[in-house]
Amino acid sequence: SESGTNCYRVVLIGEHGVGKSSLANIFAGVHDSIDSDCEVLGEDTYERTLMVDGESATIILLDMWDNKREGEWIRDHCMQVGDAYLIVYSITDRASFEKASELRIQLRRARQKEDIPIILVGNKSDLVRCREVSVAEGRACAVVFDCKFIETSAAVQHNVKELFEGIVRQVRLRRDSK
Ligand code: GDP
Ligand code: MG
Repeated sequence: SESGTNCYRVVLIGEHGVGKSSLANIFAGVHDSIDSDCEVLGEDTYERTLMVDGESATIILLDMWDNKREGEWIRDHCMQVGDAYLIVYSITDRASFEKASELRIQLRRARQKEDIPIILVGNKSDLVRCREVSVAEGRACAVVFDCKFIETSAAVQHNVKELFEGIVRQVRLRRDSK
């Protein structure tokens, strides 16, 4: 990573419309009133330092998966550069959930033998009446993926802070076991 051992590049991947940019915007703190430790490094790259379990960690968050302008190479790039991944689907969109499995397979293929920290993220948990994917299905999928699972709502900012803290913990677990 760019600035030492406590700096992690985290990549958002998932179907268009599932809420990746909404999660990134919350991370970036665009909804915070005055404060903002966040540095916007480019239109789809954000950097922020968090305190997690009494230790600071800098996340560089990449939200460029849907960048059509740059073409297909950007997806290959995304698959290569992450220290950790957030695979996002919408709980209101079964197709996006199925897409998540495809992405897990692609990631495994792109980064063979690497034990990459991943969180499977079921976003839009506020839309209870439109739910198409149950919590149990999300959890079961994460077991198959061999990763963590969380449901979030970018709209009501539920579990978003926990998501970013969670990915830092996942990276550290692997670091500390080396
Ligand atoms: P992306 O294509 O994955 O970056 O998705 P966006 O962040 O652009 O979100 C797509 C749409 O879903 C937008 O209209 C968002 O306002 C909406 N959206 C994103 N997250 C949530 C959520 O947690 N709950 C609800 N109700 N809507 C959301
Ligand atoms: Mg987006």
